[in-house]
Amino acid sequence: MLKDTAPIFSSDLLRQLDVNGPRYTSYPTADRFHDGFDAAAYGRTLAARAELSRHRAASPLSLYVHIPFCESVCYYCACNKVITRHHERAAEYLQAMDVEIELHRAALGEPQAVSQLHFGGGSPTFLSDAELAGLMASLRRAFEFTPDAEMSIEVDPRTVDAGRLASLRQLGFNRISFGVQDFDAAVQKAVHREQSEAMVRALVEHARALGFASINTDLIFGLPMQTPESFARTVASIGALRPERIALYAYAHLPARFKPQRRIVAADLPPAAARVQMLQGAIEGFLGQGYRYIGMDHFALPDDALARAQARGKLHRNFQGYTTQPDSDLIGLGVSAIGGVGASYAQNAKTLPEYYEAMKQGRFAVVRGVALDAEDLLRRDVVMAVMCQGRVDFAAIEARHSVDFASHFASELARLARYAEMGLVRILPGAVEVTPTGWYFVRVVAMAFDAALATEVPRERFSRVI
Ligand code: SF4
Repeated sequence: MLKDTAPIFSSDLLRQLDVNGPRYTSYPTADRFHDGFDAAAYGRTLAARAELSRHRAASPLSLYVHIPFCESVCYYCACNKVITRHHERAAEYLQAMDVEIELHRAALGEPQAVSQLHFGGGSPTFLSDAELAGLMASLRRAFEFTPDAEMSIEVDPRTVDAGRLASLRQLGFNRISFGVQDFDAAVQKAVHREQSEAMVRALVEHARALGFASINTDLIFGLPMQTPESFARTVASIGALRPERIALYAYAHLPARFKPQRRIVAADLPPAAARVQMLQGAIEGFLGQGYRYIGMDHFALPDDALARAQARGKLHRNFQGYTTQPDSDLIGLGVSAIGGVGASYAQNAKTLPEYYEAMKQGRFAVVRGVALDAEDLLRRDVVMAVMCQGRVDFAAIEARHSVDFASHFASELARLARYAEMGLVRILPGAVEVTPTGWYFVRVVAMAFDAALATEVPRERFSRVI
């Protein structure tokens, strides 16, 4: 499906695809969760899993741990976070997390195997080394980590040094992700996140020397003061650092929704044509430096596990994005965390007072979610086949869901005809295939199968495709 040369996007194509769209880390997407799925429903889901695992070995779990605190705000931020310099606030949070971990241990029955752990935020490294060690000890008491578990953590470079990286490695983390965004000083100032290139380079080198199996760097294009030329310099510098993975996100300026973004001067934002040049330049830059395009904003070196999984058609997708792990139940821990167990998704309360109150009462903090029906499961299968394999095989879907694909998805296939004309997909007699060009806009193709979008145009709820 993929070529290692950068496609040339026509301005006409890009204009038509400059829309907002879901990232499909779940289907249905999180905006479809509702409060009818609550803590009690979540408890029943965990009890059903515990019952099942008494009769046959359950697949290992994934865990997501959300640490909401950051010391200072980045103006582009759209995450659920709490800005504070008061590090003592972490103690109350960690006590609450201990309660939540114990609630899960009790509900899941025997200690469950865990093959994937991800710490995100906020800034997980807001916690001290001792606090992180305490949290890891709680997790290890409640769960059994498999020897080859993937353990990853998001790191704000401004909060760590070589000693702290060594401590993370000692705690068992074997994957690390650095938030870089852009090396340009004017851009960093405009978004209130100043961190030198030399510091990031030193940290990446330390992480490599410590034996982290995979190093990721996050970049954002479309930020204030960015130009195609300045961003090309960042792309070249990042490529030279050789992180195993690079995530490249499009900035979506939604100040009505995300308060910190109101501090960005709209006149400093690059125009649409410049954004397109940045995207095209970054793709050319990374492919030229030997990276593979994995899909949905992600690049990886050819010998990285993600690139190998993609080559074998074995990519999967969960709330952390692309993964090599087969679909497994995901337990979300912490304020606002999202999980997915069995045929359901669940999200915790989004504010600390609500989260603390739930823990004080000894109940799960889930306040919304969704139980998937047969139609959701069918569509999830199709959407994930598009997102991960770039191919939907009608017969395979029919075998798993007892439907006639062509008639069930007649209107979706009709909608895709437009994308076929644009060169994004090929509609074959028994399959839909995403083309190499379409792979760069794969979520637009997936959107054609999203029942929630059949009757409405997605607007500011989602991030920009370009
Ligand atoms: S971008 Fe990350 S570090 Fe910056 S405020 Fe948001 S969560 Fe915190």
